[in-house]
Amino acid sequence: MSFGSIESGLIRETPEVVFASMPEGDSIYRAARLLEDRLVGEEVVSVGGSHRAVAGYGRRLVGRTINRVENRGKHLLIHFSGDWTARSHLKMTGSWNVYRPGQKWNKEEGAARFVVTTPGSVAVCFAAPDVDIKPTPVIDEQIAHLGPDLTADEFDEKDALRRVEASQAPTVADLLLDQSVMAGVGNVFKSEIAFLLGIDPAADPSNLTSADREAIVLEARRLLLVNRELSRRVTTGDRRRPYYVYGRNRQGCRRCRARIRSGNLGDPARVTYWCSACQKRP
Ligand SMILES: [Zn+2]
Repeated sequence: MSFGSIESGLIRETPEVVFASMPEGDSIYRAARLLEDRLVGEEVVSVGGSHRAVAGYGRRLVGRTINRVENRGKHLLIHFSGDWTARSHLKMTGSWNVYRPGQKWNKEEGAARFVVTTPGSVAVCFAAPDVDIKPTPVIDEQIAHLGPDLTADEFDEKDALRRVEASQAPTVADLLLDQSVMAGVGNVFKSEIAFLLGIDPAADPSNLTSADREAIVLEARRLLLVNRELSRRVTTGDRRRPYYVYGRNRQGCRRCRARIRSGNLGDPARVTYWCSACQKRP
């Protein structure tokens, strides 16, 4: 059995590489599969970590069996016997690693927010600001607002489209990040999807055509589904040049050579990249 880590999108056999992009639905999908592979069927020997949720309810997990690991958008859920669930959200800083018992960790112990130890594995969630441990119905309530998960085997396109149509998001950038519309798009995919659709991320979604709305759903679904299987996120199809616009401020557009622009867009404002030649306001 091999052991690995997930660092914002990368599974490695040896958990030592820190990868510089942010966790989005694709990386959480892979983290969930890694944890599922190592933990399901195992009994919890101990629970640790510095997050206050661990101090609150961590000991309630000891002795329970891990039944299932699930990703819902950017949330990772570990389901335990007796209807308890641990939910983590990595935000921009967190990562999940799985070690053998006794294996050296690749980060300081103090950075461990939530640790689940079983006889065969030590699963460590580093630096995640958002962890909760509660009876499953309470956790279900916390994530009930989420739209369809873009990485799930089953994806309800019609439901996603209805949510796009009903959204009050002020910009396309906000719409793409709204987890209650579709769950799993983060800041990287946001810029990439808007580029691929040729839509200005600052555009008002109420001006979109129904074809535009449908294209948003289909493109988000396509990109997340492709990337859930990759060890490193790629939107261009070329690993050497993984992104069209993200992180490429002032560099040449891969399609038209105009300079890529960046700015803080949306509410709350997040850095966004786009090509003003290729991307238009409808
Ligand atoms: Zn361009």
